[in-house]
Amino acid sequence: MRKYSIFAVAREAMRGHKGWPKQWTSPEPKKQYDVVIIGGGGHGLGTAYYLASKHGVRNIAVLEKGWLGGGNTGRNTTIIRSNYLYDESAGLYNHAIKLWGDLSQELNYNVMYSARGVMMLAHNVHDVQGAQRHIHANRLNGVQNEWLTPEQAKAYCPPLNISQTARYPVMGAALQRVGGVARHDAVAWGYARGASDLGVDIIQNCEVMGIKRGSNGAVEGVETTRGFIGSKKVGVVAAGHSSVLMQMAGVRMPLESYPLQALVSEPVKPVFPCVVMSNTVHAYISQSDKGELVIGAGTDQYTSYSPTGGLHIISHTLDAICEMFPIFTRMKMLRSWGGIVDVTPDRSPILAKTPVPGLYVNCGWGTGGFKATPGSADVFAHTIANDAPHSINAPFTLERFRTGRLIDEAAAAAVAH
Ligand SMILES: Cc1cc2nc3c(=O)[nH]c(=O)nc-3n(C[C@H](O)[C@H](O)[C@H](O)COP(=O)(O)OP(=O)(O)OC[C@H]3O[C@@H](n4cnc5c(N)ncnc54)[C@H](O)[C@@H]3O)c2cc1C
Repeated sequence: MRKYSIFAVAREAMRGHKGWPKQWTSPEPKKQYDVVIIGGGGHGLGTAYYLASKHGVRNIAVLEKGWLGGGNTGRNTTIIRSNYLYDESAGLYNHAIKLWGDLSQELNYNVMYSARGVMMLAHNVHDVQGAQRHIHANRLNGVQNEWLTPEQAKAYCPPLNISQTARYPVMGAALQRVGGVARHDAVAWGYARGASDLGVDIIQNCEVMGIKRGSNGAVEGVETTRGFIGSKKVGVVAAGHSSVLMQMAGVRMPLESYPLQALVSEPVKPVFPCVVMSNTVHAYISQSDKGELVIGAGTDQYTSYSPTGGLHIISHTLDAICEMFPIFTRMKMLRSWGGIVDVTPDRSPILAKTPVPGLYVNCGWGTGGFKATPGSADVFAHTIANDAPHSINAPFTLERFRTGRLIDEAAAAAVAH
């Protein structure tokens, strides 16, 4: 375990930080592994970490076509919450919230989890009824969530405009105090370092081009840009490209891939104390520790693998932000970007075995999988190690799209961030 004592930091400051060891090794791929994970985002790296730390599987490779955390993990607006409607979701997202609480200690890596509260605004009677239904359902599941009047919402977030003549009047808000944000790339790096320390091979710039199945239909390994890598267990954790990868094994997925954008402002002094989401107008805002306002929007309406996204989406989002927070009207936006999100028909993830023996999939997180990272990785590792799901992810099957036993967070929330 590396030491980051004050003496080590001072010593390295004196010698240009040249003495720190590499955070993770970058070995050449071996010919055979017990488990291959495709995708070096938070979910894939976390899965490898828990496979090694909890299940004693050490002969693992994580294959990443680009760089670690360069997918949606490093592109998201980092909102963490667990106030979903259905019992199955409560189990999954609340498991993640519990793990977020200790993640920095677990990894000895500061992931900067900040439970500053996530407030979801209600702008009309339908919103009020929906939010209160969520609050009641959440409380029955032991998930913290509470109702605020407009005045209480403003007291919690002073920049909020609660004038009833506003274009989007605030009629109240649901507040989840344990919700918040974390540093996204630190999550990928922390899991990568933890996994590497336990012997996991982390292989970047290694794109999977094919998934090989034997004559009995079971997985035998993957074709990559760095040659064939054998493994009897392969986990696909590739977010927006999951359906492309699963197609390589002959499995058609109930997924659509959409561009989703985010943007940040110029940095300013601390002014925004929490996270505010408005599902009705599709705008989300928080302030990063660097001082930038971090703003998220809705997905484009069309499917695409181009992360550029339509300009009208972010300009609409900024219109909404300026209506709700007039003090930001003169802020300059610094940069915007996009990612490709994998959306299921019921807006809940697929965390499961597949019809192909030895092939497992963790996808369908759409616009909202960052918050689930530790919980998802933990139960997916269990699923791969035991060839059977954990009770928490047992409902999140692929079969539910055939049987109709959906976990319909889309209908429940109209959005899922
Ligand atoms: C703009 C934006 C804002 C978001 N905001 C939030 C939010 O506020 N809160 C929240 O909870 N979620 C949010 N999300 C969603 C969240 O980012 C994702 O659900 C989550 O990060 C997915 O993590 P992952 O590890 O599964 O995927 P990724 O981090 O995308 O990792 C998948 C990896 O697979 C790799 N890969 C793909 N194909 C191959 C291949 N053939 N071979 C090898 N590697 C491959 C990719 O390069 C990528 O690195 C947002 C997403 C976006 C784009």
